[in-house]
Amino acid sequence: MDPGRRERPGFSYVGEASINVEHAQATDDMSDESDSSITLADLHSGFGTRAVHAGQQPDPSTGAVMTPIYQTSTYAQAAPGQHKGHEYSRVSNPTRTALEGNLASLEGAEHGIAFSSGVAGIDAIMKSLRPGDHVVATDDLYGGTHRLMRQVFEPLNIHTTFVDMSKTEEVEQAFTDDTRLLWVETPTNPLMRVVDIEALCELSHAHDVDVAVDNTFASPYLQQPIELGADLVLHSATKYLGGHSDLILGAVCTNSDEWAEKLRFQIKCTGASPGPMDCFLTLRGTKTLHLRMERHCENARRLADMLDEHPKVGRVRYPGLSSHPGHALAKKQMRDFGGMISFELKDEDMEKALTILDEADVFTLAESLGGVESLIEHPASMTHASIPKSEREAVGITDGLVRFSVGIEDVDDLTDDIQNALNLI
Ligand code: PLP
Repeated sequence: MDPGRRERPGFSYVGEASINVEHAQATDDMSDESDSSITLADLHSGFGTRAVHAGQQPDPSTGAVMTPIYQTSTYAQAAPGQHKGHEYSRVSNPTRTALEGNLASLEGAEHGIAFSSGVAGIDAIMKSLRPGDHVVATDDLYGGTHRLMRQVFEPLNIHTTFVDMSKTEEVEQAFTDDTRLLWVETPTNPLMRVVDIEALCELSHAHDVDVAVDNTFASPYLQQPIELGADLVLHSATKYLGGHSDLILGAVCTNSDEWAEKLRFQIKCTGASPGPMDCFLTLRGTKTLHLRMERHCENARRLADMLDEHPKVGRVRYPGLSSHPGHALAKKQMRDFGGMISFELKDEDMEKALTILDEADVFTLAESLGGVESLIEHPASMTHASIPKSEREAVGITDGLVRFSVGIEDVDDLTDDIQNALNLI
């Protein structure tokens, strides 16, 4: 990787934004007319400014300040092959291009590639491997990633070894001559372990293994894996990036031209493209990512403190608690500790845990995370049900584990809601 690029993460991004030169020129012309518009060259700015502006320009044909939803499948050509940068929306679409520029900038990457879902992004990365290749992945990860690796790619002779990545030495032991990819999630889902991205990137690169980090739980506001050495960053943009639980979308960001080309080729061949409406909604979501994340973190910290002191609650898994084994590392590699918490009751009683899910009112019982609203769920029967019980329990995902996605509501309403539910068991 070119170290010069890493020094100024994200700032050099002007976009596949503009695969389309005419479009870029047109938008530059518009910018000249308006003092308030940011130019492509102005992206040497802070996170919040990039969240609002990166990848976008006033629409060249109308001046619309917000990127329009280009709801079109195809594009007029002046003559065969003479087009304005887009030919067919499975391959590219202007709303998607704006979003990709925005996401690349937020992750400090050269390339942002949007997918129809987070899982479609993981699938595209895995499909870039070849039969016989080997993957090492964290053993505590999103159930759908586990299912994809085990049930779709193992029969295709791409095998994955799952290890506890909070113990770096276990990762090295798992490497074989065929290992091509390290799959990291941190904080992990649902046990909230913290994995040392920088140390694992150094180790993997020494073995010629590329590193992908699923940054969904942290979001680019809290954690920048590319700066820490990762080759690929995966997002379920369905979560914090979109932020409002109203879309499904995935993204991969990378500094590697080779990976970007491979992934765009996958989208073109397999059709894992997001629609323009979902791209628009994600782009609207990222504009407030920094503000929402601060409130998610603040609320989660208060709720974790309340749970930690509650006599009926056992282990509270939140990296912001000083008792969390990954607290110091999280402090080092994250800006703040995020909005996700999981916990068990002291007596580990599953029925009582389910009663809390039932009794909570402000927290909605639902899968997913990262929206403005608070959610509560039971990993063993919901998000992680596809992992066999024996494997789940070996990792520590017990039947009594409860997971919260802490939203941005008034925190007293959130703590009261859970306290009331705890009083009923
Ligand atoms: N990664 C993580 C950490 C997730 O929690 C999820 C979904 O819950 C995914 C990836 C998959 O994303 P999507 O649901 O957008 O396909």
